[in-house]
Amino acid sequence: MAGSIFTKIINREIPATIVYETDSIIAFRDIAPQAPVHILIVPKKEIPTVNDIQESDTSVMGELMLAAARIAAQEGIAEDGYRLIMNCNRHGGQEVYHLHCHLLGGKQLGRMIQ
Ligand code: AMP
Repeated sequence: MAGSIFTKIINREIPATIVYETDSIIAFRDIAPQAPVHILIVPKKEIPTVNDIQESDTSVMGELMLAAARIAAQEGIAEDGYRLIMNCNRHGGQEVYHLHCHLLGGKQLGRMIQ
């Protein structure tokens, strides 16, 4: 997979509102937010789907979860709560094949499965 749209954001080839970044993780606001806070947390490594996670990715996946907690605190939604979602493949509704975690919050969220 050469150059997903998220890799273009990582490489500053297209704009995004970046809210968090480390050597291995980037997070930016979703272009079509589904909640008052809707942030995508993305490993810079191009892992296409959750199915493609390797043993060697355990560290970056841990960093992704740590980033989620830190961003939630940064956004002021940690105490009220939020939802983390990772869509995988067609039935999961995945549109961008560069692994990412949605962080959604800022209001009472509805039912998880529609
Ligand atoms: P998924 O369906 O889990 O693959 O989610 C992909 C998400 O990426 C969707 O919520 C889109 O709104 C979001 N998205 C697509 N392109 C961009 C972009 N250029 N900047 C920010 N978010 C984007």
